[in-house]
Amino acid sequence: MKSSSEKKGLLLVFTGPGKGKTTAALGILFRSLGRGLKCGVVQYLKGKWETGERKFAKTIPDLEFYVMGLGFTWESDDLDRDKEAARKAWQKSKEMILSGMYKIIVLDEITYAFHYGWLEPEEVLQTLSDKPKDLHIIITGRNCPSIITDSADLVSYIESPKHPYKNGIPAQIGIDY
Ligand code: ATP
Ligand code: MG
Repeated sequence: MKSSSEKKGLLLVFTGPGKGKTTAALGILFRSLGRGLKCGVVQYLKGKWETGERKFAKTIPDLEFYVMGLGFTWESDDLDRDKEAARKAWQKSKEMILSGMYKIIVLDEITYAFHYGWLEPEEVLQTLSDKPKDLHIIITGRNCPSIITDSADLVSYIESPKHPYKNGIPAQIGIDY
């Protein structure tokens, strides 16, 4: 049994069809920021709307928050442009991971880049094998590939037994964006 005070950088995955993946990751950042830990986020998808978390992130000195995606792919008419955005997001993520400056990095919706074949999960795992020992990584998004979940220390799969959208209730400010 290892000592409970031992520091270990974990790989956490929040996946599944239910709501709460990105917000679970942001909840951990809230906790970490309270501990004075330097945090980073790279968002691989950018929706039409500004989100509350992006606005708030600008006010927090210990948080670097990058939105690198070029729009929801299903809104986009240019897949090459989205691929380019995903590759740039990964370059930024890689720099941050290897910089040694952060204690936690969230790769938000990176699973979409895997899904569209813009980024290989193996490439991400290779970079994670070179990361600083005490850096925690959080991956979010639906349909996380098993090669990633197999390597993870924690996997939470969020189901969707109910969602207001199914009853025709639109996204609510503060709850969804
Ligand atoms: P959140 O950012 O609220 O934690 P998420 O990261 O789990 O959500 P995504 O797959 O990134 O979910 O989807 C983002 C948006 O889609 C959110 O506005 C969320 O409310 C909505 N959404 C998430 N799950 C569902 C669902 N099962 N049905 C309909 N809309 C959903
Ligand atoms: Mg999300």
